[in-house]
Amino acid sequence: MNIPEIFAENVFNEKAMKSALSPDVYRSLKKAVNENEPLDFAVAQEVADAMKDWAISKGATHYTHWFQPMTGITAEKHDSFISPVKGGGVIMEFSGKALIKGEPDASSFPNGGIRATFEARGYTAWDPSSYAFIKDNTLCIPTAFCSFSGEALDKKTPLIRSLEALNKKALKVLHLMGKTDVSKVHVTVGAEQEYFLIDKETAQKREDLVFTGRTLFGAKPPKGQELGDHYFGAIKPRVKSFMESLDRELWKVGILAKTEHNEAAPAQHELAPVFTLVNTATDHNQLTMELMKKVAERHGLVCLLAEKPFKGVNGSGKHNNWSLVTDTGINLLDPGETPAENLMFLIFLSATLKAVDDYQDVLRASAASAGNDHRLGAHEAPPAIISTFLGEDLLNALKAFINNSTYKTGKTTMRLGAKILPPLPKDTTDRNRTSPLAFTGNKFEFRMVGSNDSIADCNVVLNTAVAESLDAFAKELEVSKDVTKTVHDIVERTFNEHERIIFNGNNYSDEWVKEAEKRGLKNLRTTPEAVVSYTAEKNVELFEKHKVLTKGELVAIERVMLENYTRIVKIEALTMLDMASKEIYPAINNYVSKLLEVIELKKSNGINSSTDLELANKLSDLNSNVYRETQKLRILIEKVNGITEDYKTASLVIKDEVLPCMEELRKSADEAETLTDEKYWPYPSYAKLLFSVK
Ligand code: ADP
Ligand code: MG
Repeated sequence: MNIPEIFAENVFNEKAMKSALSPDVYRSLKKAVNENEPLDFAVAQEVADAMKDWAISKGATHYTHWFQPMTGITAEKHDSFISPVKGGGVIMEFSGKALIKGEPDASSFPNGGIRATFEARGYTAWDPSSYAFIKDNTLCIPTAFCSFSGEALDKKTPLIRSLEALNKKALKVLHLMGKTDVSKVHVTVGAEQEYFLIDKETAQKREDLVFTGRTLFGAKPPKGQELGDHYFGAIKPRVKSFMESLDRELWKVGILAKTEHNEAAPAQHELAPVFTLVNTATDHNQLTMELMKKVAERHGLVCLLAEKPFKGVNGSGKHNNWSLVTDTGINLLDPGETPAENLMFLIFLSATLKAVDDYQDVLRASAASAGNDHRLGAHEAPPAIISTFLGEDLLNALKAFINNSTYKTGKTTMRLGAKILPPLPKDTTDRNRTSPLAFTGNKFEFRMVGSNDSIADCNVVLNTAVAESLDAFAKELEVSKDVTKTVHDIVERTFNEHERIIFNGNNYSDEWVKEAEKRGLKNLRTTPEAVVSYTAEKNVELFEKHKVLTKGELVAIERVMLENYTRIVKIEALTMLDMASKEIYPAINNYVSKLLEVIELKKSNGINSSTDLELANKLSDLNSNVYRETQKLRILIEKVNGITEDYKTASLVIKDEVLPCMEELRKSADEAETLTDEKYWPYPSYAKLLFSVK
């Protein structure tokens, strides 16, 4: 395989555009993208034509506007290029209008109430800052999705708006600091993706995996991850072959898949791409998830992206590595060898600290989902409390700067062996794996995002909150007579005011929960508690001020997230009811009746059967619990169904009543599983699932 040759062969990127477009059209398109300007219609028509010819030459027959509705999945509606001509034939056609704007039947996408109050139609609008690509013989055009009157109904629109806000404020600060050669600040992101691979035939025997993508029952296997023998362990042949196919698919659509390794849990793996601009990184992550599932299927596997597919086994997340880079090539979060002298770095570091402290609630909310609630706070994933890890070295450098003393960091740089990656400062301090937002050399790594969720949300919050910090700093710098002194004052004050958000210790410890409470940090444990932050007054003010989201759009986000939460848990609860009533209850009874036969037989032969009786009694009791909890759960689901309009109350009933009942039901069923002859148990055990792939 010639990787450079196949890389991005299905992407309408710079190279493809340069050869397909006339120089004038290419220039106009680039100018529009660089300056965030709308595109001239005549230019769009030429781009559409060239795109179509290019796509057809690659075997494409259809095109689609590819977009990311508010639930975080991707959506597409395929149209073929054919257009009838006189005499019954067809020609292949694609108009500039069809490139720029689409009108999908939007009525089945979630809108959080927006479309009901305005207009039923939805539009997709071409995002020329993300390359079109071919997937399954279809030209996919990345688009934003909005309502008739322009409200965002998707994840991309707010992301692009937040980039414009951040760029504006960052430029202002840089120019005030004398960096007048910079004309654009970009956000770079590398999203590491965790996932599980399970044998498909085994997985399909379980209704919970088929319907919900995670197990709702299942006793702990005799061997879990205690030995730590899976993490970075040798990759099994079937997994290896999957990874090779996946890499190939990803490379073809221009995704820089770079690192693949086993993760901590058995059957868990990770893929890390090389970082890129955040808008592209977001599209790429959505595409990566889709291709992971598709390629797994081809290999007789199932790729589980749920945050917590197995109880008692590490869950999966997504690490959002976030940084800022200028068009002149400076990483603004790179401390360099002498961070205490690097004013630009110190200002942007301070802006991030302030942003994360001031908007910790909504940053936490951006990672909230039903699936992620099972992960955040478990002793494996960052807790629900936002804090940031800077490391001793950087902290010392920061303090030295504030105290006007000198501090020499032990930093050296290292090369990663591939030219495309920048030289990274090598940390002298240990990596902190427990922090939700760790400074890792030249970027912040936000680790709260769930494996199934779009990375757009957290980046919208980070970008906007940092824009707000920078705006405040710019105001001070604007009236300053001595920029160096003002920078010093800003850094010192920010550190003093926001030191509480810095925590270098173990985030998994119970002491931290107490300490965080003392510091006044928020601990929003669950989705219903976290998501309402989107509409808190100070957050509405933030997003409206920077023109990223309106109050109406924020209400819609809150509503979609909470409705989604309720819907997901309800499907899980219904699946549990089905499994408990039709599979588990009868299975336990079958085994009990087998035990009773044994008891009879033993009795008639004068053999002591007291332990059989004890076991039969125990199982019978557990089955009674299963039955009773099932009945309770049925009633609770009815209760939730009865709360149709009030989505907040519904989500609270889910959190406070439905989920605890599901937990109880599971407890009895799982205990019964450990006591029942395997032959009688209706679905494959954890051991079979987790060790199913060789
Ligand atoms: P790890 O966190 O596993 O030790 P790395 O530090 O090499 O690995 O990088 C993790 C991810 O961070 C990769 O996707 C990498 O491309 C990304 N990354 C590295 N530098 C930056 C940057 N400046 N901006 C955004 N992401 C980055
Ligand atoms: Mg990482």
